[in-house]
Amino acid sequence: MIYFPKTTNQEIINELARQKNLSSGKYDFDAVWEQLSKDFFNKCYICGDTTTSPRIEHFRPHNGGADKERKFDWHNLMLACEHCNSIKSNDYENLIDCTDERPDQHLRFAVSPVPQVGQHKIVIEQLPTSDIHIDTKNLLDEVYTGTTKCKRIGASVLVENLLEELNDFDDLIQEFQDEKNIDLLSDIGWELNRESKFTAFKRWIIRDSEIYRPLFEGLIKDKL
Ligand SMILES: [Zn+2]
Repeated sequence: MIYFPKTTNQEIINELARQKNLSSGKYDFDAVWEQLSKDFFNKCYICGDTTTSPRIEHFRPHNGGADKERKFDWHNLMLACEHCNSIKSNDYENLIDCTDERPDQHLRFAVSPVPQVGQHKIVIEQLPTSDIHIDTKNLLDEVYTGTTKCKRIGASVLVENLLEELNDFDDLIQEFQDEKNIDLLSDIGWELNRESKFTAFKRWIIRDSEIYRPLFEGLIKDKL
């Protein structure tokens, strides 16, 4: 989870206000989909993967439409994948707002190998300096591990995608190290910015390494 600045699109805001006053008003018209896909780079704001099953996610639940302010509030609409959308449901009310803050500066994202069983464990840690509510960590734990059988399958597919992406990132860094090819720096910079998949994990690979940090930390451009 990383920071995504959302575009203040006045036409959308006006149309949402109009829809709010209709008896069967919609919040999911084409312009909303288009702007969210653009602002979130077709990525799910929760897990960080690109999504082929996007959902418009209400950051603060609208209680089945009862809360019209939340239902038609542009600032409350996010892009999520089906897996994360169903896990979040109405269960997490105190999440960090990634359109406002930088979640990867409150939480550490890592993958630690479990050699005995040849598996990997996803580690989401809240930094001691952070005072955000524990809900964000709890939601992410559930997203990457799953709780029910169905959600565990979704979580394992997600983790496979994550490991594949991080392997490619590692290969890119190795290539840079071996060849000292300066051109690869812009590729590494792209991977560390918000367009790429699972950006928070990649940033923490850099921050966690004594070797990588001085070389690549400056490539993380994330202005508020
Ligand atoms: Zn997701």
